[in-house]
Amino acid sequence: MSTTERDTVQAAREIIAVGRDLHETGLVAGTAGNLSVRLRSGRILITRSGSNLGRLDEASLVEVPTGPAPGGSSGASSELLLHRAAYRADEAVGGVVHTHAPALVAAGLRDIDVGEVLPEVTLGTGPIARLPLLASGSEALGLAVGKAVARGAGVILLRRHGAVAVGPTARVAADRMELAELAAYSVLLGSDPGDVADPKRIEALAARLGSLARASS
Ligand SMILES: [Zn+2]
Repeated sequence: MSTTERDTVQAAREIIAVGRDLHETGLVAGTAGNLSVRLRSGRILITRSGSNLGRLDEASLVEVPTGPAPGGSSGASSELLLHRAAYRADEAVGGVVHTHAPALVAAGLRDIDVGEVLPEVTLGTGPIARLPLLASGSEALGLAVGKAVARGAGVILLRRHGAVAVGPTARVAADRMELAELAAYSVLLGSDPGDVADPKRIEALAARLGSLARASS
């Protein structure tokens, strides 16, 4: 086996293992999310469009160049452009992970800056950047992700969509995603006490519980 082949086999193993872990920790579900690794050749090994990250095998992966190439992208993830942009923005990026992690999406919907609320988390994740709503798979999204990575972001929140994490390996990128998700969850648990104490909400909840109690008696 040549060095290049061995490199591809190792990258495939890393993607398959990381995908399974992301699925097991609830950061991805169904066919949402995608993941890639930069090969020594400079090309990218990325999950195919429609793959379930919890059940990847070698047939779920496709090798593509970092730039556009004749012949298209051979069934690569629809978010290929953002992966390519991240690798082009910083040579130190060796792995890219994209998920719709629920607490990160929720923090984005509430416009919460997780890194500002819990600054210590950025020691593990690197700076957390936030992008406005941009169409999935678009060149504009790719450009914005590339700019955030060039400015040193480790995690990038995509408003009303999900998050991207980058790292020297896909494993490190996934760990950053996991840390950011947990931090976002903590922030959501600790935020908006007024919302929880809203008398109308409590009244509505009491009425609902009352009707459930009557229905079950
Ligand atoms: Zn997405």
